[in-house]
Amino acid sequence: MTVSQPIQPPDKTADAGAPMFCANHPETETYLRCNKCGKPICLKCAVLTEVGYRCKECIREQQNVFYNAMTSDNWIAFAVAAAITLVAWPFVAWLFRITGFFGWIIAALIGSGAGASLAQIIRKSVGRRRGRYIRHFTIAGIVVGLVLSGLVTSMIFASFLSFFSLGGLIFLILASITAFQTLR
Ligand SMILES: [Zn+2]
Ligand SMILES: [Zn+2]
Repeated sequence: MTVSQPIQPPDKTADAGAPMFCANHPETETYLRCNKCGKPICLKCAVLTEVGYRCKECIREQQNVFYNAMTSDNWIAFAVAAAITLVAWPFVAWLFRITGFFGWIIAALIGSGAGASLAQIIRKSVGRRRGRYIRHFTIAGIVVGLVLSGLVTSMIFASFLSFFSLGGLIFLILASITAFQTLR
């Protein structure tokens, strides 16, 4: 004797009661699903995010979408920052030398703007990609450019330290902080 069973539509309510198996651990039963790709995942594989449980693959993918820079972008940022600092610093240092004590007022006015401009140039040269370490490489580039520029100018002006002034220092600090924050 056969009993005709009602055909259940494969809807979500019917699905929810049945145990699934984790996509990564076929032996582990689970009731959890990644809320992005819908893949069944066990507690070991699930990561609790602000928007619910997600599988590790989806989380990695999401981070990669945000940080889409290539490793070479870090070095491009480093080279561009070093080159610009190397060329621009003698002029900036000279400007603050001739303005003397009141140079710090000018430095306070243009320091952040210069940092923001540098950040824009770097952003453009890395194709507007975002990277975790681009800003760190930029700061390293500024430091290297500064040292190289200091070496060159010290050969011309005989003294390395005479090229640093209060205005120059304030300018450098403001520009570096702004570039670092803009490139986040
Ligand atoms: Zn997923
Ligand atoms: Zn698992």
